[in-house]
Amino acid sequence: MQTIPTLSEMQTQAQALRTQGRRIALVPTMGALHDGHLSLVRLAATRADVVVVSLFVNPTQFGPSEDFSRYPRELESDLAKCAAAGAHIMFTPGVEEIYPKGYSTYITEETVAKPLEGVSRPAHFRGVTTIVAKLFNLVRPHLAVFGQKDAQQVAVLKKMTADLHLGVELVIGPTLRDADGLAMSSRNRYLTATQRADALAIPRALRRAQEMVAAGERRVDRLVAEATHLLAQHRRVRVIYAAIVDRDTMEAVREVRPGQTLLAIAAWVDEVRLIDNEIL
Ligand code: AMP
Repeated sequence: MQTIPTLSEMQTQAQALRTQGRRIALVPTMGALHDGHLSLVRLAATRADVVVVSLFVNPTQFGPSEDFSRYPRELESDLAKCAAAGAHIMFTPGVEEIYPKGYSTYITEETVAKPLEGVSRPAHFRGVTTIVAKLFNLVRPHLAVFGQKDAQQVAVLKKMTADLHLGVELVIGPTLRDADGLAMSSRNRYLTATQRADALAIPRALRRAQEMVAAGERRVDRLVAEATHLLAQHRRVRVIYAAIVDRDTMEAVREVRPGQTLLAIAAWVDEVRLIDNEIL
């Protein structure tokens, strides 16, 4: 496995791989890797000749009061985990090269990015679309792998890729969960055991909604009421949103269309912000 820290080296390498006719997969991450990330690396390895994992804590997707400076950084163990999972290239650009002094160009998706996360984190997706477009230009992947854990991110990136004719296939990996049901996240490490016990209300609410839909319930008001009720029983949990939306547009719907609708939940568990979702 090779580590590439500079943009020029990455561009040269991408050009060489393309010339050799090799199929390139990109897995963008912010590091602090867990098995959820590594499942995407393994998925990428089944679909391409060369797997590039980017490690970059992207400052532009963090709000002013968010955890950019204390976001966990663990380069050495991330590299070892990616090597074991089948990555070929680790792209580790520096923030000064990605956003040099005077940097002023951003990409915004203006519809799918607006609700849900867009309400409480207004600049978040602008940062995500900008960094992903830059990574696509630098790595020139044939395909890029993202996790369904960040369902709105998936929808926004699909829209951007189509709208800008980027020609990158997006492959989506399922959400990996710990044995207790909590979706794996780099932020779970901030939870104490009691906070984690309360956080489990989130996957429970999602499962309950899935069960209700499996039993024939289609009414969004009833499903959301039940999910909200389950979450409200835990005093450390403060719901930011619990919404049933179309999985592509993120628009609120009144009725579940099985397979096309998802329940998305964001909640504070004390001071830790968690998101999760399931397709209904
Ligand atoms: P992040 O480092 O948090 O930006 O995540 C990098 C990629 O990993 C994104 O495509 C996420 O959606 C994905 N990801 C994060 N958590 C999980 C998980 N529990 N299961 C699968 N993919 C995940």
